[in-house]
Amino acid sequence: QGYYTRRGGIGESGDFVTSPEISQVFGELIGIWYISEWIATGKPKAFQLVELGPGRGTLTDDILRVFNQLASLLSKCDVSIHLVEVSPKLSETQALMLTGGKVQSNPEDKSAYMKGISKTGIPIFWYRDIQDVPPGYSFYLAHEFFDALPIHKFQRTEKGWREVLVDIDPEVPDQLRFVLSPSSTPATENFIQPEERRDHVEVCPEAGVIIQRLACRIEKDGGAALVADYGHDGTKTDTFRGFRNHKLHDVLSAPGTADLTADVDFSYLRKMTQGRTATLGPIKQREFLKNMGIDLRLQVLLQNSCDSATHQQLLHSYDMLMNPEKMGDCFNFFALLPHHRLEQPDRKRKPESKSALPPVAGFGELLLQ
Ligand code: SAH
Repeated sequence: QGYYTRRGGIGESGDFVTSPEISQVFGELIGIWYISEWIATGKPKAFQLVELGPGRGTLTDDILRVFNQLASLLSKCDVSIHLVEVSPKLSETQALMLTGGKVQSNPEDKSAYMKGISKTGIPIFWYRDIQDVPPGYSFYLAHEFFDALPIHKFQRTEKGWREVLVDIDPEVPDQLRFVLSPSSTPATENFIQPEERRDHVEVCPEAGVIIQRLACRIEKDGGAALVADYGHDGTKTDTFRGFRNHKLHDVLSAPGTADLTADVDFSYLRKMTQGRTATLGPIKQREFLKNMGIDLRLQVLLQNSCDSATHQQLLHSYDMLMNPEKMGDCFNFFALLPHHRLEQPDRKRKPESKSALPPVAGFGELLLQ
């Protein structure tokens, strides 16, 4: 039924709300993360910021504000924005947010389906698929994107793995039901890792394909990817659920009218990089944001505003993002980086080497995997 292409209800009036919609600080700190990586890799002459599933465009808008504030630092760098979005409705909302609505559809010279210029003068392009984005040194961003992609569900039985399928209930009209496949399916043969230990497992092959593409692109052209989503490191089993009007919704009822989501399995994403890049994380959102300086940013914003309603709003949104009971613990950050970005100089062979690269911001003391 195409939930995102027809409804796509993000925000208070919709079905679910996301971190960038809660606080501008979220996107600002992510913007700083990219600038920090850009500096650490020697300030390349150009970079593309590629966002997968940009929603209402708020995150990119907050990042662009940071880029604009650091305009003198970026003045010699050719920055462009590339949005991968399948929803015609949401791409319109993004165009309005980022360009004021001044866009050109189907530009002849590009693989993009739409192009425009941001309020701060940066070119923006829209695509339906990551493969349409031109190659080049790029920073990728996927916030609450992978959880929206379809999954397969499997159960271990005495006869081996079986796929959970959706069937029409023969007894109740207009009702769907889950059934277990009577025999093995092609998905059972292909998508379960041989070393899998869980009894129930959810696999998102589309996420695997996209991560492979990102890893290939980063290996070849450089850059980094930041993936932020709710998820786990290969431990959870049944997470598939629906949201409608901010409430849990039965995934089988009224298809196409609710946001369907499953936790991201970061261990699967790591595996799908096939060693082409290094990975960092997953690290909890509250730790990542703390490492990125959210407390300092909050203090500055509090000092800059004198009305108590704004103060309350700032403190409330900080709590939403950071509180372990809210979004602080269940959301995770995960990064792909070129191997050379994390290599430590060999001090035994070259004790005089001073060329240690600065640590990757936000991930603290995490060891690379
Ligand atoms: N990143 C945003 C929105 C998350 S919702 C935020 O944090 O607020 C998921 C987004 O992914 C929506 O923009 C949706 O239209 C888009 N999307 C879903 N499936 C997609 C696909 N297969 N390819 C590209 N975009 C997709």
